[in-house]
Amino acid sequence: MNSRPTSIRNLSWAVVGDGTARRHVYRRQVDLFLKDGRIAEITPAGARPAEANEPVLDGSGMLALPGLINIHSHPTTEPGYRGVREDHGVPEQQMTGLMERLQAFRLPAEGRAAAAEMSYAEMLRAGTTTACDVTVPFAGWLETMVRSGMRFYAGPTFASARWGMSAPQTVTWKWDEAGGHAEFDKAKAVMAEAESHNSGRLGAMVFPAQIDTVTPELFAAGRKHADETGRPFSTHIGQSVVEVREMIRRYGVTSVQWAAAQGLMKPGTILAHCILLDEHPQIRWHTAKDLDLIAEAGAAVAHCPQPFARYGLAMDHVGRYRARGVTVGLGTDCAPHNLIEEMRLAIVAGRLMSEDIASLDTGGAFEAATIGGANALGRDDIGILAPGAQADIVLVDLAHPLMQPVRDPLRSFVFHAADRAVRTVLVGGEIVLADGAPLNLDPAGAMERLAEAQAQMLRDTVKHDYAGRPAERIAPLSLRVT
Ligand SMILES: [Zn+2]
Repeated sequence: MNSRPTSIRNLSWAVVGDGTARRHVYRRQVDLFLKDGRIAEITPAGARPAEANEPVLDGSGMLALPGLINIHSHPTTEPGYRGVREDHGVPEQQMTGLMERLQAFRLPAEGRAAAAEMSYAEMLRAGTTTACDVTVPFAGWLETMVRSGMRFYAGPTFASARWGMSAPQTVTWKWDEAGGHAEFDKAKAVMAEAESHNSGRLGAMVFPAQIDTVTPELFAAGRKHADETGRPFSTHIGQSVVEVREMIRRYGVTSVQWAAAQGLMKPGTILAHCILLDEHPQIRWHTAKDLDLIAEAGAAVAHCPQPFARYGLAMDHVGRYRARGVTVGLGTDCAPHNLIEEMRLAIVAGRLMSEDIASLDTGGAFEAATIGGANALGRDDIGILAPGAQADIVLVDLAHPLMQPVRDPLRSFVFHAADRAVRTVLVGGEIVLADGAPLNLDPAGAMERLAEAQAQMLRDTVKHDYAGRPAERIAPLSLRVT
């Protein structure tokens, strides 16, 4: 098999751009022609016979999709929380386990690279070709990103404060302003290293960590840096009741209102995760303007339904955000790094919150996972299969039983088969996943290292937890071992 085919022939179905419009349509029986890592042409199947020795990829029985875009992920930590965080939350903090987990469960550095190796493989298997990693740097980060064959945005976070807990109902903010500026300087070096790599597949994202842990001065410096460099700008905001209540305590306004007043939101800004707006049932602040502020600013939202749904919490509701004109892209935030599952959950959670099947449909969720993410990053060359766009292509096996019958292949894919039917992934015209397996990543080799690191993390919780509890008490196993 040639790793750089010049055409994909006889595709049974393809999701392609609608002429020059940035929206998807189905086409049947097409050939995709690739040149210099981009899509050169999309023609009816067989319109131009293949020449002898032409490296052709057979697309018969396949659905071609644009590669998915994950605009928010934590690859170096989340696989390390497998078996730990799924049922963990703190009822006294409106269920979020975020602050307690970060304090008690700390994956040793050796485990972080192994986790990233596994995360990137999870992404590729589920058809993700571009991802924002907000957990760089880690040992070997640049080499691992490049080797994966994917596109990445490196978003090293920086903060002026760290959360701490002294009791279940108490979160404290430990401030170190000089430390925050030092972290920002380090982040700038990491971003420059990513962007200057000659693969051309790495970008950078300016990422002050959380709306409640960064001083106004450091936020302003980050915003200015993003404006000057043209890099996307992102932060965690509206992600816990604790955070929004603390921002109201400090400033008298919600997190989003404070961000707007500081001039942080504009096109090219990605708000992760904007679940807890003023009107959300768990906030019920007296204003009703957060969503308007986001829409008017032209900021995008990185919607990651999975971790919140596990706490019993959801955006209210994703259809309302989209209808208000907010750009919604998808991310994973936790493991598994499976954007297809996020699409499905975004649809279902949107309908549950709105009690309306029209909140989000399959086409809308797919748009968020592709064009939405691309728009959030300010890119018009990814997230769509059209002449001139990057040849970032996912081939889905229509013969998989969970894809059958193929009346509407996107519905089969999102609601039924998901990653199980992903066969081949190309990035920039190069095959990086074949027969469902990443060609250049070694998740099996990383598993043992991650298991060791997780065991160490679990042994160390007594040292880090505010009450000195063992892991078994903070996050008990789902069944008793007898
Ligand atoms: Zn996050």
